[in-house]
Amino acid sequence: MGSSDNLGYYSTACTKVASDYIELSTRFSVKDVRVAAARPMVREFAIRIRHELEVVDDARDYHGKHLPGANDFATADWNWYQEQVSQQRHAEYARPETLDDLITSVTNRPYAAIAERTCIRTHPRRFFHTYTCSGCSGAGTVSCHTCGGSGQVSCGRCHGSGRISCHSCHGSGTVTQHRTVTDYKGYSRSETQIRSCGHCSGGQIGCSSCGRSGKQRCSTCSGTGRLTCSACSGHGCLTKITTTHTYTCPRFSGHYPAGTPDYVHEALCKVGFASLARHGQITLRQVVEDRDNSAVEFVYDCTMPFCELEVDVMGIRSHWYCSVRSRRSSTPAAHWKHC
Ligand SMILES: [Zn+2]
Ligand SMILES: [Zn+2]
Ligand SMILES: [Zn+2]
Ligand SMILES: [Zn+2]
Repeated sequence: MGSSDNLGYYSTACTKVASDYIELSTRFSVKDVRVAAARPMVREFAIRIRHELEVVDDARDYHGKHLPGANDFATADWNWYQEQVSQQRHAEYARPETLDDLITSVTNRPYAAIAERTCIRTHPRRFFHTYTCSGCSGAGTVSCHTCGGSGQVSCGRCHGSGRISCHSCHGSGTVTQHRTVTDYKGYSRSETQIRSCGHCSGGQIGCSSCGRSGKQRCSTCSGTGRLTCSACSGHGCLTKITTTHTYTCPRFSGHYPAGTPDYVHEALCKVGFASLARHGQITLRQVVEDRDNSAVEFVYDCTMPFCELEVDVMGIRSHWYCSVRSRRSSTPAAHWKHC
């Protein structure tokens, strides 16, 4: 099948898509759709993928003391540590092998195999800095927040007083008794007697929950007044470990010959520059190194079939542009309507 046959095929496929779209989204039926003109064509343009290196210090704090490996660097001097980390980061930007490897990798792999920010190298040397925990000043424990470090809290039953209301007299300190007495003439009368409560003094008895102390052991710290420091898990120190990662951030751009209509760029944006290999032919033409900026650009030549349609629906003309997904598929990937 020659390329002109392919184009004819695209033309048929695109006409069908335009007709189906019109029937779905308007009150017109496919019978009303008349294709006045179908112009299949191949567009040629260039895609540039610029890879720029980005070196990142990944610093994490680990609880306790961690020992460096044979390749690693360790110091207790924080300023020296920061200097070393910074030096390594700058050296990574200038490291020629990183760009060499990236060029080899991108050249040997299909178009847009690296389509988003990707880590391409982790430096074997890590940085270790062990320092005193500021949360506990190195003690590993902190004062208990529930009891303020005393190990005791106010008794919940007596609210710290050590005494509670007497149950027998309900806190009044006295008991009232009513009785009926009969006098010598045989008359009965009622008599009220008030006397002190025999179970308490003044309506209060000692609290049995706290043994009259008004205090109870703090359950948060089990009475010790101290809690394990959560910032260091009780180690009293932390170790900052920094790893240097190099990422590449690919950026795509389309470069079109003069006279290319705008819809070509719109189509590429809609399809996505990273997915263009499914829609056209793409070959690597040139590798442009920009080592001063830790960057490299890959220039690809791209040919992509399009079909321009002029559609007449009951006397209304509209223009359509379609791109086709692949040679085997009859489904256009994207279409645009310009009235
Ligand atoms: Zn701590
Ligand atoms: Zn406590
Ligand atoms: Zn009482
Ligand atoms: Zn109590």
